[in-house]
Amino acid sequence: YGDYNQKIDYVFKVVLIGDSAVGKSQLLARFARNEFSVDSKATIGVEFQTKTLAIDHKTVKAQIWDTAGQERYRAVTSAYYRGAVGAMLVYDMTKRQSFDHMARWLEELRGHADKNIVIMLIGNKCDLGSLRAVPTEDAQEFAQRENLFFMETSALESTNVETAFLTVLTEIYRIIS
Ligand code: GDP
Ligand code: MG
Repeated sequence: YGDYNQKIDYVFKVVLIGDSAVGKSQLLARFARNEFSVDSKATIGVEFQTKTLAIDHKTVKAQIWDTAGQERYRAVTSAYYRGAVGAMLVYDMTKRQSFDHMARWLEELRGHADKNIVIMLIGNKCDLGSLRAVPTEDAQEFAQRENLFFMETSALESTNVETAFLTVLTEIYRIIS
C-alpha cells in the first residue's frame, strides 16, 4: 500500500543524538529506507525522515530527526529537541570515548526534552565485534541506572535496527494511549 491517502493517527518525533561518526545517519537510513552507504557524507539540509507504520491497528508516522553535523557539545539547538517524545542515544561500541560522552548527551537531552521522553541507548557497529571497546555490561549498567532501554545494533548488517526503533515507538504509544 502507498503512503498517500492514509489517515495518520499519531506523529511521534524521535531525535538521534551522540558523537559524530557513531552511525546515527546510517541507522536512520537503514530504518527509514533500508539503505546503508559506506562513505556517508554529512547530511546537509535534510532534517528528518519519516516512516509510517502500524502499532496496535493505529497508523503512526515516525518523524526521525538527525543532527546534520551539529554534534559538538551544546551545538544542537533546543529546536531540535522540541516536541520530541523519543530519543536514540547512540555510541560506537568500538570507540570508548563515544560511550563516555553518553552521560553529557543525556544531561543535555533531559535539560531540553519532555520529562516523559522514551530513551534508547544504542551501541552501534556490533558487526565490528573484534574491535569492541565497550563491554555490554558497562552499557547495561549505565542504561539501568539511568532508566533507558538498551540495544546493540549494526546499521551495516541491519542487526536490531528495526527492533530498536520499534521498541521506542511502541513504548511511546503505550504511554500516550
Ligand atoms: P553519524 O556522524 O553519527 O551520522 O555517522 P554516520 O552514519 O555518518 O556513520 C559514520 C561512519 O560509520 C560511516 O563511514 C559509516 O559507513 C560507518 N558506520 C555506520 N554504521 C555502521 C555499522 O553499523 N557498522 C560499521 N562497520 N560501520 C558503520
Ligand atoms: Mg550524520
